[in-house]
Amino acid sequence: MNPGIVTASYIGATILFILALGGLSHPETSRRGNLYAIIGMAIALVVTIAGITANIGILIGGLVIGGSIGLILAKRVQMTEMPELVAILHSLVGLAAVLVGFANFMDPATLFEGVELTIHDIETCLGILIGAITFSGSVIAFGKLSGKIGGNPMLLPARHWLNLGLLITAIYMGKMFVDQSAAGHGGGLIPLLILTGMALLFGIHMVMAIGGADMPVVVSMLNSYSGWAAAATGFMLNNDLLIVTGALVGSSGAILSYIMCRAMNRKFLAVIAGGFGTTTGTVVGAPAAEGEQGEVVAVEAPEVAGLLAEAKEVMIIPGYGMAVAQAQHIVYELTKTLRAKKVNVRFGIHPVAGRMPGHMNVLLAEARVPYDIVFEMDEINGDFPNVDVAVVIGANDIVNPSAQTDPNSPIAGMPVLECWKAKITIVLKRSMATGYAGVQNPLFFKENTRMLFGDAGTTLDAVFKAL
Ligand code: NDP
Repeated sequence: MNPGIVTASYIGATILFILALGGLSHPETSRRGNLYAIIGMAIALVVTIAGITANIGILIGGLVIGGSIGLILAKRVQMTEMPELVAILHSLVGLAAVLVGFANFMDPATLFEGVELTIHDIETCLGILIGAITFSGSVIAFGKLSGKIGGNPMLLPARHWLNLGLLITAIYMGKMFVDQSAAGHGGGLIPLLILTGMALLFGIHMVMAIGGADMPVVVSMLNSYSGWAAAATGFMLNNDLLIVTGALVGSSGAILSYIMCRAMNRKFLAVIAGGFGTTTGTVVGAPAAEGEQGEVVAVEAPEVAGLLAEAKEVMIIPGYGMAVAQAQHIVYELTKTLRAKKVNVRFGIHPVAGRMPGHMNVLLAEARVPYDIVFEMDEINGDFPNVDVAVVIGANDIVNPSAQTDPNSPIAGMPVLECWKAKITIVLKRSMATGYAGVQNPLFFKENTRMLFGDAGTTLDAVFKAL
């Protein structure tokens, strides 16, 4: 294909990707953002494929197999399984970078010499290193998010030394690979394999050591790594668009990690070091201190309907349980009924509610809840003293007061929605079970808290009918 057309198409696709990121930054413009991204990716694929002359059969075969698997997975996946799907897709980007790295190393056509060879070898090392960390880290994140691996941090003795040892060995192996490769084409396979093994171990160890409540940062961090892995692949394949796209994903993922860290009041390095909140001897999942516990007051749906009908100000706080119960539609029906009765209903969204960034916003948008009644935590947290009824729907960690009161809690220091300051708080959940971080919640024992037990979809339906 004409190089001019390729360059122009790549620039067009890059602009569309940038517009897509801009669009995705707000729920109102996110559909448009997605459309830009789809068009950009279609252009990128068509132009890249059109430029390939050899092995077309293998290429088409790969596209058909990969595309079909992707289509089936995307159609089948439940909204609650979305974070796991994203994690496993990140792992594929990492795996692709590792495979491209090895293919690049073994390709007899790449006959570089001198400085060019060294640069090429360093690219290969970096691509494989980042790719392998992304791959194994994402597989472990998938296990943790899907509950196949326990959420508690795995804390090996001297784990920081272990990480340092793995890093130094990887750098040393990288140097050996570059030296051996310079000595003769095809040399350096053993150090490259050892480097890959070290990076895989590092990825596993890094994510295993991170505690449940810090997982949002890990998810966004692996998102960022997958971008850098794609950029490294772009360097190895000499593809400018892949470099730019990878850098866009890598840097936007890094910004998201920063935002998530700020939302959780964590330092990025402290999250990576892992094991937060467990070194002080707190037993994760232990009940709150004796004095904080009181009676749990259970209520039935008609009573909740009565409280809501009498309220002037209602704040709804959705959490992961709303996604499990798929209760967003009935929540909106209830909201419309209350608004018709002149009750001011607002939604308070915690940045790490659910299991992926923006999870609650997506669900509420799907149910067509107007954006102007949906507020971020920082915007509404000061309003709770004026709220008559706060309704917590399947949320737990994000409304846990022990984040403020118990310095030994695994979620200590994480900003939470202060719903207990409302006149009355109604918590909808199925049991007294803990949330993702595995910590008991003193909110449930407070005097002005009422528990409405059951699947949120069923209980909200009953409240709606009673209203
Ligand atoms: P939590 O996991 O803390 O709590 C969810 C609650 O929902 C549970 O206590 C559960 O109680 C209840 N629940 C589950 N199913 C139902 C149902 N069908 N009907 C009613 N209730 C139900 O969720 P939060 O949203 O409060 O907090 C998010 C947590 O996830 C934080 O710890 C965060 O760090 C973590 N996380 C967030 C990510 C993100 O990017 N947003 C990524 C990874 C982790 P019960 O079983 O009794 O019903």
